[in-house]
Amino acid sequence: MDALEQSARVAPLRPRLEQELTEIETLDAENASWSVPVELDQQSDGRVIIQQAPKRIEQGEFGLCIECGEPIAAGGLNVDPAFTVCVKFAE
Ligand SMILES: [Zn+2]
Repeated sequence: MDALEQSARVAPLRPRLEQELTEIETLDAENASWSVPVELDQQSDGRVIIQQAPKRIEQGEFGLCIECGEPIAAGGLNVDPAFTVCVKFAE
Protein backbone atom coordinates (compact mmCIF):
# COMPACT_ATOMS: atom_id res chain seq x y z
CA MET A 1 0.00 0.00 0.00
CA ASP A 2 1.48 3.37 -0.96
CA ALA A 3 1.27 6.54 1.11
CA LEU A 4 -1.50 8.06 -0.99
CA GLU A 5 -3.64 4.98 -0.75
CA GLN A 6 -3.04 4.87 3.00
CA SER A 7 -3.98 8.50 3.57
CA ALA A 8 -7.12 8.10 1.47
CA ARG A 9 -8.01 5.12 3.64
CA VAL A 10 -7.55 6.84 7.00
CA ALA A 11 -8.97 10.25 5.98
CA PRO A 12 -12.61 9.26 6.66
CA LEU A 13 -11.57 7.99 10.11
CA ARG A 14 -10.06 11.28 11.25
CA PRO A 15 -13.31 12.86 12.53
CA ARG A 16 -13.99 9.71 14.57
CA LEU A 17 -10.46 9.81 15.96
CA GLU A 18 -10.67 13.49 16.80
CA GLN A 19 -13.92 12.84 18.62
CA GLU A 20 -12.21 10.10 20.66
CA LEU A 21 -9.28 12.40 21.45
CA THR A 22 -11.68 15.11 22.62
CA GLU A 23 -13.45 12.61 24.87
CA ILE A 24 -10.13 11.56 26.39
CA GLU A 25 -9.19 15.20 27.01
CA THR A 26 -12.57 15.83 28.62
CA LEU A 27 -12.13 12.81 30.88
CA ASP A 28 -8.64 13.98 31.83
CA ALA A 29 -9.95 17.44 32.65
CA GLU A 30 -12.69 15.95 34.84
CA ASN A 31 -10.22 13.66 36.53
CA ALA A 32 -7.87 16.53 37.30
CA SER A 33 -10.64 18.35 39.13
CA TRP A 34 -11.46 15.41 41.40
CA SER A 35 -9.50 14.85 44.57
CA VAL A 36 -9.52 11.07 44.08
CA PRO A 37 -8.36 9.96 40.63
CA VAL A 38 -10.75 7.66 38.83
CA GLU A 39 -9.44 4.22 38.03
CA LEU A 40 -8.77 4.26 34.29
CA ASP A 41 -6.77 1.05 33.98
CA GLN A 42 -9.44 -0.66 31.96
CA GLN A 43 -9.37 2.09 29.36
CA SER A 44 -5.69 2.84 29.37
CA ASP A 45 -4.68 0.62 26.45
CA GLY A 46 -7.31 2.14 24.17
CA ARG A 47 -6.38 5.61 25.38
CA VAL A 48 -2.72 5.21 24.53
CA ILE A 49 -3.57 3.85 21.10
CA ILE A 50 -5.93 6.74 20.39
CA GLN A 51 -3.43 9.29 21.66
CA GLN A 52 -0.73 7.82 19.43
CA ALA A 53 -3.03 7.60 16.42
CA PRO A 54 -2.19 11.00 14.89
CA LYS A 55 1.50 10.10 14.98
CA ARG A 56 0.81 6.68 13.50
CA ILE A 57 -1.24 8.31 10.72
CA GLU A 58 1.73 10.57 9.92
CA GLN A 59 4.01 7.56 9.80
CA GLY A 60 1.53 5.68 7.63
CA GLU A 61 1.12 2.95 10.24
CA PHE A 62 -2.36 3.71 11.47
CA GLY A 63 -4.92 1.05 10.63
CA LEU A 64 -2.30 -1.60 9.95
CA CYS A 65 -2.37 -4.84 11.93
CA ILE A 66 0.48 -4.93 14.47
CA GLU A 67 0.66 -8.70 14.04
CA CYS A 68 0.79 -9.17 10.28
CA GLY A 69 0.94 -5.62 8.85
CA GLU A 70 -2.19 -6.07 6.78
CA PRO A 71 -4.69 -3.19 6.66
CA ILE A 72 -7.44 -3.47 9.26
CA ALA A 73 -10.95 -3.28 7.79
CA ALA A 74 -12.05 0.37 7.83
CA GLY A 75 -15.44 -0.74 9.12
CA GLY A 76 -13.80 -2.08 12.24
CA LEU A 77 -11.79 1.09 12.75
CA ASN A 78 -14.98 3.10 12.52
CA VAL A 79 -16.46 1.06 15.33
CA ASP A 80 -13.33 1.46 17.41
CA PRO A 81 -10.30 3.42 16.13
CA ALA A 82 -8.25 1.69 18.83
CA PHE A 83 -8.22 -1.60 16.91
CA THR A 84 -4.62 -2.66 16.34
CA VAL A 85 -5.07 -6.13 14.87
CA CYS A 86 -6.94 -7.48 11.87
CA VAL A 87 -9.83 -9.94 12.13
CA LYS A 88 -7.42 -12.88 11.98
CA PHE A 89 -5.81 -11.83 15.28
CA ALA A 90 -8.79 -10.15 16.92
CA GLU A 91 -9.99 -13.32 18.64
ZN1 LIG B 1 -3.23 -9.20 11.02
